[in-house]
Amino acid sequence: MDKYEIAVIGGGPAGIMAAIAASQNSSSVILLEKNPKLGRKLLMTGGGRCNITNSKPIKRLLNLYPQKNFLKHSFYTFTNENLLSYFENKGLAFVEEDNNRIFPESEKSSDILNILTYYLKDVIISYNFEVKSISDDFIINDEIKADKIIIATGGITYPRTGCDVKNYHLTSQPLTDIKYGLSPLITKKDLSNISGITLNDVVISYKKIKIQGNVLFSHEGLTGPGIIDLSNEISQSISYNLLENNNPDIDFEIFVDLCPNLTREDLQERFNGDFQIKGKTMIKNYLKLFLTNNFIDFFLNETDLDGETQLSRINKKTKNRLIDNLKRFSFEIAGFNSNLAKITIGGIDLTNVNPKTMESTLIPNLYFAGEILDLHGPTGGYNLKIAFSTGYLAGLSAGEK
Ligand SMILES: Cc1cc2nc3c(=O)[nH]c(=O)nc-3n(C[C@H](O)[C@H](O)[C@H](O)COP(=O)(O)OP(=O)(O)OC[C@H]3O[C@@H](n4cnc5c(N)ncnc54)[C@H](O)[C@@H]3O)c2cc1C
Repeated sequence: MDKYEIAVIGGGPAGIMAAIAASQNSSSVILLEKNPKLGRKLLMTGGGRCNITNSKPIKRLLNLYPQKNFLKHSFYTFTNENLLSYFENKGLAFVEEDNNRIFPESEKSSDILNILTYYLKDVIISYNFEVKSISDDFIINDEIKADKIIIATGGITYPRTGCDVKNYHLTSQPLTDIKYGLSPLITKKDLSNISGITLNDVVISYKKIKIQGNVLFSHEGLTGPGIIDLSNEISQSISYNLLENNNPDIDFEIFVDLCPNLTREDLQERFNGDFQIKGKTMIKNYLKLFLTNNFIDFFLNETDLDGETQLSRINKKTKNRLIDNLKRFSFEIAGFNSNLAKITIGGIDLTNVNPKTMESTLIPNLYFAGEILDLHGPTGGYNLKIAFSTGYLAGLSAGEK
């Protein structure tokens, strides 16, 4: 049987970074990856461009994670500067885009993976090695014995990248409910005829939760950063657990404020004046003042109003319906578009993991990193940030112990 000081399970960003950090202090590190290649999901990130992190200052960054107290130590131990310097030292430059999103200037996630792979030079990598069992004395698949194990097998979404729900049961570590995160939403209504249209900077609400962002219509429903971020909040507020039931029973409405900069009263006042002064203008033309051009037909259809109607012919009741729909346009939701959910919410319960080391408080010498943990963030580089920071801290701690 082969023996190693540290075995890292899972060659995604968290496991790769854990193995790199562990190999700084240990010459006996093995990385076990079930695929024939490392980082399948990493290659897909940011549409193949890899939104590697988010450049907000640490305090502001942490505030955007529900589990900010747990993440604090790992973020301060392995900062954005630390992370980016690994790549900059190998000649890769970065650019910042809107909302502090950081991408490699080359726009290639493969550049990130190639450089990470270079830093694995002191690590033994075993490909096509799917970990199926870990015994109490740290024997993996009856083949490998390790003194310390770091589990970084990711979540459940995009199973073709290597994720598998079975990984949650590799140890007896307690779990929280497993849910979809950063997911497009499927609407009851067919939106194919408006697919491709974006509503910029609208306010989307679900119950008391409000998020400002873009909404993109797709053939299956709603997507775009605003919807994707809202889906995290929705998913957390609904009670379901993918470990028990694959089809959460979902049926709710979300509302879009199409004119977030105008109150109902502002709209009322403007309509009252304009409907008299511009009486001969057709409503479909007038609405260009408030809505994206190519959304107007759909909007009027949903408001049950003929686009050629002149403003002077619109009665008070219809005027109120227009205002209602501009401020609270509703979409009935039938479910998460789970095939496109980017992350997993829930995982290894943080109560039993030491945030200063990523070591289990129940099983000594067992560590966790990345998405397998009950950690998640919004869209914009926040989830790779979790993977790299917790991965680094787990590897460093295991290597130093
Ligand atoms: C389409 C898409 C785009 C995304 N874009 C971004 C983005 O731009 N920015 C961002 O911050 N986040 C993004 N994310 C989220 C981000 O990719 C994940 O949060 C991140 O990859 C998690 O890293 P991880 O190492 O924990 O898990 P993973 O990347 O899932 O890696 C887990 C690894 O473990 C291996 N493995 C699993 N089980 C076993 C086993 N039993 N034995 C051996 N090996 C095993 C898998 O094959 C895999 O290689 C995106 C996600 C998707 C799906």
